[in-house]
Amino acid sequence: MPQINDHYLKLKAGYLFPEIGRRVSAFTEANPEAAKNLIRCGIGDVTEPLPEACRNAMHAAIDDLGTRKDFHGYGPEQGYAFLREAIADNQFQKINISADEIFISDGAKCDTGNILDIFGPGNKIVITDPVYPVYVDTNVMAGNTGDSDEAGNYDGLLYLPCTAENDFVPAIPTGEKIDLIYLCYPNNPTGTTISREQLTAWVAFAKENDAIILYDAAYEAFIREDGVPHSIFEIDGARDCAIEFRSFSKNAGFTGVRCAYTIIPKSLTGKTVNDERQAIHPLWSRRQSTKFNGASYPIQRGAEAVFSDAGKKQVKNLVDHYMGNADLIRETCLKAGLTVYGGINSPYVWVACPDGIDSWAMFDKMLNELNVVVTPGSGFGAAGEGYFRISAFNTKENVEEVCRRISKSLSQ
Ligand code: PLP
Repeated sequence: MPQINDHYLKLKAGYLFPEIGRRVSAFTEANPEAAKNLIRCGIGDVTEPLPEACRNAMHAAIDDLGTRKDFHGYGPEQGYAFLREAIADNQFQKINISADEIFISDGAKCDTGNILDIFGPGNKIVITDPVYPVYVDTNVMAGNTGDSDEAGNYDGLLYLPCTAENDFVPAIPTGEKIDLIYLCYPNNPTGTTISREQLTAWVAFAKENDAIILYDAAYEAFIREDGVPHSIFEIDGARDCAIEFRSFSKNAGFTGVRCAYTIIPKSLTGKTVNDERQAIHPLWSRRQSTKFNGASYPIQRGAEAVFSDAGKKQVKNLVDHYMGNADLIRETCLKAGLTVYGGINSPYVWVACPDGIDSWAMFDKMLNELNVVVTPGSGFGAAGEGYFRISAFNTKENVEEVCRRISKSLSQ
């Protein structure tokens, strides 16, 4: 009988979104009438149609595949040059990242998880708390942790709390050897950002400690305030200590289309078991060549169109739509007397639960009394207790209705 990967059995059974699903189903069964008015502001999935420029490019690419001359079979595993170059030219022109340091994929979720393939056992790993659950679960699957405790924290990971007290940016650890650090800004779930000074301090720490920062910038397009870093590579020295993940999911509505990219500078190194420096870039290139056959040609053409003149305008309209929703949610919660974070440079609004109510109780209250599905903060980690997340990924009508219900029922 084959031995299974026992680490999977350490994963917590009540994973956040299945638990939300269970509670929503129970509510729907018990309250079929009220369930008709249910509005979901839980998961971060987009609602608006794909930009026309992207659709046109994908249609044209499908037609290419119908001709012998322009037919494309297997593409380069690292992505087509046309897309890698479009990204380098449009997103990293001033930052000194070259097209061949950009790897195209079918999602930032897969990349943030798969990246562990190229790191060995025994690394000390830092996770912010609350956190996008994929970083934690993929480390559990890879055997980088022990079991979880009552609070749901896994032995072996170093959790850095991000709360209102530290502006949702973790304090830099002292006195511990650190190897890998996951940072995500604009942050999911808190919707908050990191300042240039704070990111500079993290880069300095990583360099001093020969650590690598895994920087998830999936929400970069939602940054509206000047001065907020869009990429970790804006910080001097980050080329030697960081990998960045980006995605077309949230800005261009590609959650169902699937296209993302990961930037690995050629100057980035790790160490071998013999303590020799080894470049990371060729390892990821090799990993992709062996285990991945590239995102599809029509999809990469669609992603390329994000950087056309029409594509840029249409993507900006999408981002403006979601951020208009975020503004409405923020203002309504503030007027209702709630304490609110995020939602300024990100489509997530992170709300403090009113006194005496914990995250799941607030989830139940929002579900039962307002018929609105939110995400309980504690589902993202112990430090998320006492908060809940409202996603601005929705239609304007739904957000306006959610705001009416919040004003009516939650005003203090
Ligand atoms: N990174 C973060 C922080 C996310 O919140 C998400 C999706 O919600 C992803 C990555 C996944 O992106 P993709 O759709 O490209 O897999």
